[in-house]
Amino acid sequence: MPDLLQIGTITEAMRARLAEAFTIHQLEDYPAERITHIVTNGAVGVPPEVMAAVPNLKVISGYGVGYDAVDVEEAVRRGIVVAHTPNVLNDEVATTAVMLLLACYRELLRDDAHVRSGAWEASGGAALTRTTDNQTVGILGLGRIGQAIARKLAPWNPTILYHSRSPKDVEYTYYDDLVAMAREADVLICITPGGPETHHIVNAEVLEALGPEGTLINVSRGSVVDEAALIAALQNGTLGWAGLDVFEEEPHVPQALRDLPNTVLLPHVGSATVETRAAMGNLTVDNLLQHLKDGKVLTPVPECAHL
Ligand code: NDP
Repeated sequence: MPDLLQIGTITEAMRARLAEAFTIHQLEDYPAERITHIVTNGAVGVPPEVMAAVPNLKVISGYGVGYDAVDVEEAVRRGIVVAHTPNVLNDEVATTAVMLLLACYRELLRDDAHVRSGAWEASGGAALTRTTDNQTVGILGLGRIGQAIARKLAPWNPTILYHSRSPKDVEYTYYDDLVAMAREADVLICITPGGPETHHIVNAEVLEALGPEGTLINVSRGSVVDEAALIAALQNGTLGWAGLDVFEEEPHVPQALRDLPNTVLLPHVGSATVETRAAMGNLTVDNLLQHLKDGKVLTPVPECAHL
């Protein structure tokens, strides 16, 4: 059986299917020369020293849609196909973004704490919150998930604006300038890929444009937002609220963010439901099994589509 290197965690269902077709090795001890396939998760990717150690690698199958933790340029150079799991998680990640938005606007955590602490009974109802109806929502990255977010927000009757490198064939309003869009938006939702191109594109200027009544939602990658600038903006009132699923140094979350009352924080669970992870796991394995059959994968990343 061909030799597969597992990086990061996989589900039992994935392991069971993979074990029928591959000998599975772990990072602690693997036969570098014999490894032809790697399974990894989107956040961990493939460390450069592992890439360099496996001369016969043919496929990297990622359990996730983001692949900023894999050196795709190097993979293409060596003819290694990188696969990922687009589309099967669109609705789940969109739900996570909407959940964060609702939790910020309606102060879900504050009011939950109000009830649990006994403050309601002791001193009366909680302070008012803000409506999520009729808001202007700026989406940074109107791709597969960005468009799912726009659709999922429809019952709240938003005005949707978006920024990406090129305009899309949609009814929403395109901004080629992120700061200009942030100035118009009540909420900015980040859902671009990570990596050098989007590093800190949400900077102090963007946060200031979003403003004291503004809300930032990040379900993309921690690297997209300048976390130090975000903390400062939330502390000094330049920005109103932030709902974050991703952070710059995961799993480390700065104490300052944890101390702020105007944040809602999640441990990178954008797609983390039983159902969606099962669908992602199946596609991750299907990509590897398909490659054994005919040398192709079902869902290559765009850079590898020609391989
Ligand atoms: P897509 O490739 O479908 O969409 C990405 C969008 O980002 C496109 O609209 C693209 O448009 C835009 N974009 C890319 N680069 C830039 C840039 N430099 N500046 C502005 N816009 C840019 O990806 P998906 O929607 O499938 O996924 C998006 C990302 O979401 C993933 O890469 C991943 O990092 C993250 N993610 C996070 C999850 C979580 O658990 N929190 C789960 C799943 C995904 P254009 O090319 O015109 O710029």
